[in-house]
Amino acid sequence: MSFDSLGLTEALLKAIQKKGYTQPSPIQLKAIPRILEGKDVLASAQTGTGKTAGFTLPMLQLLAEGHQLRQRPVRALVLTPTRELAAQVFANVKEYGEYLDLRSAVIFGGVNQKPQVNQLRRGVDILVATPGRLLDLHNQGVLSLAKIEILVLDEADRMLDMGFLRDIQRIMSVMPERRQNLMFSATFSKEIKKLAQSILRYPVLVEATPENSTVDAIKQKVYRVAKGLKTALIIKLILDGDWTQVLVFTRTKHGANKLCKKMINAGISASAIHGNKSQGARTKALAGFKKGSISVLVATDIAARGLDIPLLPHVVNFELPNISEDYVHRIGRTGRAGASGEAISLVSADETTYLRDIEKLVGFKIPMEIIEGFEPDPNASTAPIKQGQKSNRSRQGNRSNSGSSRNQKSGNNSEGQKRSNRRRPKRNKNRRSSDRRN
Ligand code: AMP
Repeated sequence: MSFDSLGLTEALLKAIQKKGYTQPSPIQLKAIPRILEGKDVLASAQTGTGKTAGFTLPMLQLLAEGHQLRQRPVRALVLTPTRELAAQVFANVKEYGEYLDLRSAVIFGGVNQKPQVNQLRRGVDILVATPGRLLDLHNQGVLSLAKIEILVLDEADRMLDMGFLRDIQRIMSVMPERRQNLMFSATFSKEIKKLAQSILRYPVLVEATPENSTVDAIKQKVYRVAKGLKTALIIKLILDGDWTQVLVFTRTKHGANKLCKKMINAGISASAIHGNKSQGARTKALAGFKKGSISVLVATDIAARGLDIPLLPHVVNFELPNISEDYVHRIGRTGRAGASGEAISLVSADETTYLRDIEKLVGFKIPMEIIEGFEPDPNASTAPIKQGQKSNRSRQGNRSNSGSSRNQKSGNNSEGQKRSNRRRPKRNKNRRSSDRRN
């Protein structure tokens, strides 16, 4: 099946050709024709399936065919949970829309709002945004969403995980009721289904990968290892394997920094990416990783969400996530768009329960190995790690959901733990939403 048969116009086919895509991915094949028909779509798709083109191409076509107003009010809004994903989607919108007369912009927090405001004042057709900064600018009267024709919620599950439900509801309330809605989510929890029901009208269901399944192309492996030997093991794996592009996950920001330092000391070019890093530092680290000047990117779950690093060969879980679905998201960074990849997890005794939960979720037992000299500690307890007891650092950073002293007292520096508190987000009236999360 080729792109020609999907009903896309010449301008878009030319852009697709320039990108070098020869055939549509399964999600594109299923979603593009239905979106072009004007249907609401609920799509189950992970990052790496080509979902961005799946909604961007038909969105661009519908907007280009539609009635263009001279002032260029925002007619399409793409909401994403993270700044990085917003930047990536925006880059895609620009590329796919190269041969169309449509203007687009991206807005997110953590950076000066002035250039964003200037751009919005000049008029844009498509806006890619994270919820906090969008609401900020809307509240300041810089932009109107009254002419929205198409709304895309990208990575909706992660938006809920990050406590954006109320922001999303607020954004909905300032949009026209008649519009086309497209919702993409890697997982389908009860909350996601409820959100879908409240937003989508008679949606067409589109599935690219079965729920919570891991991509076949990814080779998964567990190394059982003593906790204290993990750093030495990962350094050995990277050096012996001559790995030049590895994404490593830690559970905490502090852990990411610590591991990164040790890698640098071992002569490996590494950088950390997490919520306490400035936007500039995050962008720089990601750019370095993509172009190859940094071999190892050490990330926490939230920071890594949605990163598009084509053909990433290695993902290492230095620590397993305490939320099993995050395992699927993490290893989805490798084996992208049909390429093969390897996902390795270093598992110590106290992560035994997490591993069991993950295996239950993915539906099979992940092959296990022990490397000589890096054996697990036979005397270590298999009781799960108690979240919040390891670090006494105060919660800080631009993704913190709440500034409440009650939460600060818990002293938890784990992003995973924070998310388990995120079901009922609290608001701190004194802080602007974009400062908090975006
Ligand atoms: P996404 O799931 O949207 O993050 O896309 C994952 C990667 O697949 C990106 O690097 C895209 O450029 C790439 N991609 C998207 N569609 C195709 C396609 N039809 N053929 C090959 N690569 C694609």
